[in-house]
Amino acid sequence: MSTETPLDLKKTINLPKTAFAQKANLAQGEPARLEKWTKLDLYRLIRRESEGRPKFILHDGPPYANADIHLGTAMNKVLKDFIVKSRQMMGFDAPYVPGYDCHGLPIETHVEKALEKKGKKKNDLSVEVFRRICREHAENALKGQTRDFKRLGILGEWDNPYLTMSNHYEAETARMFARFLERGWVYKGARPVYWCLKDQTALAEAEVEYHQHTSPSVYVKFPLQSDPALVDPALAGRKVFVLIWTTTPWTLPANLGIAVHPDFEYAAFEHGDEVYIVASELVQSVAAKCGLNEGGASPKVLARFQGSKLDRLECRHPWIDRSSLLMVGEHVTLGGEADAETELDVSEAQKKSDSKAGTGCVHTAPGHGHDDFVIGKSYGLEIYCPVDNAGRFTPEVEHFAGMRVFDANDVIVEFMRERGVLLFSEKYEHRYPHCWRCKNPVIFRATPQWFIAMDHAHRDLVEKDEDGRDRSNYTDNLSETPQRSLRAAALEEIERVKWIPAWGVDRMRNMLKGRPDWCVSRQRVWGVSIPVFYCGRCNEAVADPLVIEYVADIFERESGDAWYTHDAKDLLPEGYTCKGCGAPEWTKETDILDVWFDSGTSSIAVLENRPELRWPADVYIEGGDQYRGWFNSSLMIGIAAHDQAPYKTVITHGWTLDAQGRAMHKSAGNAVEPEKVFKESGAEIIRLWCASSNYFDDVRGSDEILQRVMDGYRKLRNTARFALGNLDGFDPARDSVPAAEMEEIDRWALAELNRVITEVLAAYEGYEFHNVYRALYNFATVTLSARYFDIIKDRLYTFAPRNKARRSAQTVLLQIGDALARMLAPILVFTADEIWENLPNRTHPSIHLALLPSASEQSDEGLVAEWERLFAVRDDVLRALEEARMAKQIGSSLQAKVRLEASGKTLELLQKHQNDLRYLFIVSQVELGNAGDGVTISISTADGDKCERCWNYSTHVGESERFPTVCERCVTALNEIEEGKTD
Ligand SMILES: [Zn+2]
Ligand SMILES: [Zn+2]
Ligand SMILES: [Zn+2]
Repeated sequence: MSTETPLDLKKTINLPKTAFAQKANLAQGEPARLEKWTKLDLYRLIRRESEGRPKFILHDGPPYANADIHLGTAMNKVLKDFIVKSRQMMGFDAPYVPGYDCHGLPIETHVEKALEKKGKKKNDLSVEVFRRICREHAENALKGQTRDFKRLGILGEWDNPYLTMSNHYEAETARMFARFLERGWVYKGARPVYWCLKDQTALAEAEVEYHQHTSPSVYVKFPLQSDPALVDPALAGRKVFVLIWTTTPWTLPANLGIAVHPDFEYAAFEHGDEVYIVASELVQSVAAKCGLNEGGASPKVLARFQGSKLDRLECRHPWIDRSSLLMVGEHVTLGGEADAETELDVSEAQKKSDSKAGTGCVHTAPGHGHDDFVIGKSYGLEIYCPVDNAGRFTPEVEHFAGMRVFDANDVIVEFMRERGVLLFSEKYEHRYPHCWRCKNPVIFRATPQWFIAMDHAHRDLVEKDEDGRDRSNYTDNLSETPQRSLRAAALEEIERVKWIPAWGVDRMRNMLKGRPDWCVSRQRVWGVSIPVFYCGRCNEAVADPLVIEYVADIFERESGDAWYTHDAKDLLPEGYTCKGCGAPEWTKETDILDVWFDSGTSSIAVLENRPELRWPADVYIEGGDQYRGWFNSSLMIGIAAHDQAPYKTVITHGWTLDAQGRAMHKSAGNAVEPEKVFKESGAEIIRLWCASSNYFDDVRGSDEILQRVMDGYRKLRNTARFALGNLDGFDPARDSVPAAEMEEIDRWALAELNRVITEVLAAYEGYEFHNVYRALYNFATVTLSARYFDIIKDRLYTFAPRNKARRSAQTVLLQIGDALARMLAPILVFTADEIWENLPNRTHPSIHLALLPSASEQSDEGLVAEWERLFAVRDDVLRALEEARMAKQIGSSLQAKVRLEASGKTLELLQKHQNDLRYLFIVSQVELGNAGDGVTISISTADGDKCERCWNYSTHVGESERFPTVCERCVTALNEIEEGKTD
């Protein structure tokens, strides 16, 4: 023995060792790992691995392929990836086919601007060339987006995404139009639609947004032309006027009527020699506003009567030589504007109802408002719209011809003042629809458009002429089976869908109840043409599903460009002639379909056409704006195709805002740019930010917030690193200790692990990723770092490597490391894979081929409860130790001896765990005494000397001749190490 060199004690300590670095270095590590996945062909591997499992289909709402991604786009895609990956790891086969929305106005606008810079105009180019440039622009944009989505660690069919501009997709879009035709839901008619004067096109509901806008608010008198005695005998022979109020004076030249509520009470009051009619309830406010109550006196009311008394009487237009018909309608309110915002969601509707203006007599221009149109139609009024595409009055409008409508507002006000028909005017702030592309205020304007009817099947494709002549060529193909209307079907179907959050169903119901017929035509070129032909001789419209199938097959081969590159006759079956007049000459419709019709078609074009997918989808998840947009149009399409919603569950996520809750804008300098985060911190930080926030609400992001997320990331990483570092040399097959033979605190840790697995699985199940994060973060920082790891360090570091108690802890660390990697994998895609790589037991080449851990049924509740009580004592002891340290009584806690006085059950518990207590408190000695009710703690310095190896204090240091500087525990450990050597 004496010939042996003395042992280097430091080398006998089992220091942690792992290739899993403390510093993440994500910005470099992530691209390397992505490359590794590409080499592995990981997405394919996952598909192969999960063949035959039940399917789980998340259907991607296609982002618009126009620009680079921003933080909101990133969050949307990351949330989808959380869902796909967690479902995949729950044992589903969850393929992910991403899509891109490629047609539409923003790309046209972008291309037009780019052309302008080169001094060219759109009209200088042929439609084919213009469309080709649009297509190239979309291709470039979607390439950039794909690069960034892949960089975010999102796995999917990136080599074969769905594009709304692909040949197949364009063909399917045209075919969907045929499905609507077969239902009898398509018609062409003049309807007021939102119209952007700048972009000169109709806009869908989903394409307008509401902003504050200042309009002139005017009170105008319309002389009653009918005999006033018909209203009330008291008015016989008087000069009577009906007072209207409007915030769009420019629509007054198109006024054809005035609507009153049939059940409201109206009053006629006197002012000088004139008599004015308004709703009774508003007499005071109107009189005050218009200065009709001299000296503050109430105006003298001559008669009161129901609104229905006015029905079908006539006024004169205040300056045009024609009459204005009095009508009754339920849409009339006493709260001001009753028109315009027909499809508001609830919050907007509430803001609107604040307005307290109006007369209860509503100026009605059927060509310029939805309610105006409906009531005008039922009274047989003309849908009169003397405004052109650019928003200028047509020549027939006396005094104002050629004037732009918004410029005309003030001119008309002055004109009316001079004529003495204006009682009052002021500036009026209200929410007004704006074009979401160019941000300009829009107008309501009636133009011939293609519509999808919400309420009934149209027997006539084109609305009948005034003489009632049926000009339809398509009734032959109309299904004869009675059916639900589109609106009724939609309202029924949404009740079968699961909405997360649950308010989604109310929001959707409100949207559907209020929405007017869907205007699907756009006066644009970058999209799918409406596949309709017109007879060259009699102009009859042919929208025949069979013809459309024929056209769609051509689109399938040549893309939708075929509509522009071929003559009409080449797009029609050979020898196709007009059923009305027999002529073989045709012209093509020039309008294209609404892009929402395009993207709404995705469930059919994608889910039904790819063998790995199926219809309907399990989940759609998008932002709240899609209640107007994609959720809505997809529902319409689903019903036209299969009488069913295309989704089983719809999840809504919030907006991304800055730290102060404002919208992010590059120009405002408050935008967090994903690309910058990739380079500086890593995509993982964006992913963890998504998981750490409750995405059902709006989510805030800023550099500072991301910094906090980084801190959270470091804690998770360090937790994993501790487990990995202490598994060096651990062979699971050889070294694992069965649970029954483990140290009790190790079993406690397993029970806690089991609890967190249960929590995490439930959170994934409910798409509550913030709860996944919270559970894992608390587990890592509280259960593990502050408790378990702290307590087992001594055992892991100082016991002989193969000591069973040490192996017991390692067995648990392996389970923790393994489970953490799996549970983190859907969120921290890169880091979890890295943890996995460094575990000794990995079964797959990537964590993304593994499953989530399962929770064990059997629970160690008694054990957990007992240890909770011990941890409560520990908290008190740690406080007392901290005080002793502050008082310089001790240095490290190992210099301390703790004496606990307790009695009864508490004492019994402490006695039972007497041997654990020094490790629990991380002190050298613990003494127990029987006294008192609670627990009394006293701290003193530990007895004996400091062990050179483990730094514990012991009265036995020096007892071993061989190892004179170490304690009795270390003597045992060193002996075991020596024995191990000679194995
Ligand atoms: Zn616009
Ligand atoms: Zn014809
Ligand atoms: Zn020792």
